[in-house]
Amino acid sequence: MTLTEKLLACAAGKTSVSAGDNIWVKADVLMTHDVCGPGTIGVFKREFGKDAKVWDKQRVVIIPDHYIFTADSKSNRNVDILREFSREQGLPYFYDVIDDPNGTWKYDAAKGNLKRQYGSNYAGVCHAALPAKGHTRPGEVLFGTDSHTCMAGAFNEFATGIGNTDAGFVMGTGKLLIKVPETMHFRLEGKLQPGVMAKDIILHCIGEIGFDGATYRAMQFDGPGVASLSMDDRMTVANMAIEAGGKNGIFPFDSRTAEYVDARVKLNGTISRYEPVELDADQKFVYELVVDLSKLEPTVACHPDPGQRKKAKEMSNVKLDRAYVGSCTGGKTSDFVEFARVLRGKKVSIDTFGVPATPDIVHELQTTRWGNETIWQILENAGVRMTENAGCAACLGGPVDTFGRINQAGLKCISATNRNFPGRMGDKESQVFLASPATVAASAITGKVTDPREYLPN
Ligand code: SF4
Repeated sequence: MTLTEKLLACAAGKTSVSAGDNIWVKADVLMTHDVCGPGTIGVFKREFGKDAKVWDKQRVVIIPDHYIFTADSKSNRNVDILREFSREQGLPYFYDVIDDPNGTWKYDAAKGNLKRQYGSNYAGVCHAALPAKGHTRPGEVLFGTDSHTCMAGAFNEFATGIGNTDAGFVMGTGKLLIKVPETMHFRLEGKLQPGVMAKDIILHCIGEIGFDGATYRAMQFDGPGVASLSMDDRMTVANMAIEAGGKNGIFPFDSRTAEYVDARVKLNGTISRYEPVELDADQKFVYELVVDLSKLEPTVACHPDPGQRKKAKEMSNVKLDRAYVGSCTGGKTSDFVEFARVLRGKKVSIDTFGVPATPDIVHELQTTRWGNETIWQILENAGVRMTENAGCAACLGGPVDTFGRINQAGLKCISATNRNFPGRMGDKESQVFLASPATVAASAITGKVTDPREYLPN
């Protein structure tokens, strides 16, 4: 069996399953957020009764992150609904924006968009927060009401996005009917060269198969090249499985996975037992691609979809209006470090926004020194507008007052986010070019799409 088949067989209590089988699997964790949480809660209450209790309080994780730092009252109300529900159910894993369980978050105009407007429990973007808070474990099944839930496949688990109706059902029963997906095999060999990042790996793969090339299929990434990839790198790759239509992305388990997971479950006091699945010799794949990491180059996905692959060095004729680094895919500490490596001592020439994925990442960037400056200062001195308000921000547009949102038709933005369908970051006449944080940094300096290797320090 492939890794995905083994995970699903295990969750179904079966010795084996095959692609195409319809099976009931048990959920280990259900995650929801402020966009889909209210709808999920509505379905749960309608189907199970207004006094019903969730199937397991320890396994429901609620993370407001999408439309948070906005004066939009409907968005604020969504977070209030999550707060009321978590209080009523006694949920231990509700990562609220404010510390008062009976309060309501209010936009503080005096602090503005850049200064911190959250309390001590807030966790930031759900997919970055889940592993950091100890909710991703090898061998488990994670359902989330968000398409990029597949990011947790980096941890050798079956992680996939589901709709509100399914999530309401999981909330009440802890189970879901799943069709076992076929598996596509991406064998990674070699090692990335300087200036080339994990984002380039996944943009390369999606470019090979197209933005619907993995529809309802598992994308399995393994091979000797995996060992050189950090957990952040693996998360970036798994995150974008959905950008090819994938049901899930999945990596094998190794000592790096164990080190990360063990540290996080210990730090947060979450469940510490887990059983990874190992690679079998007799796996059946519907597609195979060998990717030599050492041959990859800085890559860009052009408007209007993540499959429109080109090399950055071939796009210097594309003039840009803004640059953006952030999101679950591109807003991790390692992403900002590579962003800063290119920008250090230089100035951006176009509007450039930086949105860390979580408050912990804000802290790391503000306290990690590089010479006389912190990473945060390097970026601010380069002219990047860095916000402390970690979250999804303009990755998916959001209300008009969202930090970094594209509110003007015709703007071209190079972004370290993961999706670039029309209107994704705001105005539907704008264009988004997806790239690694290093490529975004070099492009922010020149104002046109630029290969970051031109700007790497010696
Ligand atoms: S950062 Fe973007 S892709 Fe990630 S969960 Fe938020 S909106 Fe979705």
